[in-house]
Amino acid sequence: MRFLTKSVKRNNHPKQEKPPNRKPAVTAAYLSFTQEQIEQRLEVARQRSTACDLCPRKCQVDRLADQKGFCGLGNSALISSINLHHGEEPPISGKSGSGTIFFSGCNLACVFCQNYPISQLRHGHPMTSSELAAKMLNLQIRGAHNINLVTPSHVVWPFLEAFALAVELGLEIPIVYNTSAYDSIETLALLDGIVDIYLPDLKYADDAQAKRLSQADDYWETATRAILEMHRQVGFLKTDQNGIAVRGLILRHLVLPGGLAGTRQVLDFLRQNLGAQTTVSLMRQYFPANRAHDLPPLNRPLYDEEFKVAKDLLERFELDKGWIQE
Ligand code: SF4
Repeated sequence: MRFLTKSVKRNNHPKQEKPPNRKPAVTAAYLSFTQEQIEQRLEVARQRSTACDLCPRKCQVDRLADQKGFCGLGNSALISSINLHHGEEPPISGKSGSGTIFFSGCNLACVFCQNYPISQLRHGHPMTSSELAAKMLNLQIRGAHNINLVTPSHVVWPFLEAFALAVELGLEIPIVYNTSAYDSIETLALLDGIVDIYLPDLKYADDAQAKRLSQADDYWETATRAILEMHRQVGFLKTDQNGIAVRGLILRHLVLPGGLAGTRQVLDFLRQNLGAQTTVSLMRQYFPANRAHDLPPLNRPLYDEEFKVAKDLLERFELDKGWIQE
């Protein structure tokens, strides 16, 4: 794989495709697990949800009793949408699409969140584990290359409950964990061998900005530790003969106006700690949303010059595997 000078256009309106009705080309590492091993992971996650510490906020509320913490979710997952998505990075979307499940709620509260009706207003509908398992299997039948969990950090236990059922019924495509990187090491340990592809967005290098913009004053240490753990589990990105992701880490970074994301420090961290083999997806899709209109410089799109500086940094740090999304 080489660095693409051609930009990847993200597609915010996923197309529905006719089901190709064929066996998946890429199967998942979790197929080596016994059902009992998956159930054990689920049981630990369920227990931890009774004094919830599924994510670094450690709210200690009893989620099983429908108490709600920072993420606003109680005893079930809320689903915003489930689709075949064609706008993710090429090895994730492939030709047939990525089977995306958009979970409502979030353990961050970004002032500029472009999905804030889903993440902060929690628009969505509850789904039982068996309903969610059936949806996963349906995505597989429709040809999805993977099951792509979008914003899953606060719903790991409902996901595992549905996943255990889906595997029993024949799920065999890889799981993608698509996250803000504000993840607990202990929760990631429960996903070791279950998640094949980690897709974290390293959002800030500066905790003061993370606190002001996302209410996460320990973001940098938490997110960087989480990314190192993700990399320990799955390593660098590997693709099959068709270029479809089989396993590994793809690191996203959204460049913010005014240098608020700390792009230089983010890329320096990746180069120093993971090395030049790291697959990076550099994104410039920022536009003002949610409360950003009142918070300059977040009230404007990114300048061309700001993104050029970010692209030059990729070159300077020799991070030449991945994509630029403009
Ligand atoms: S998952 Fe939700 S309730 Fe649990 S610790 Fe995180 S924010 Fe709090």
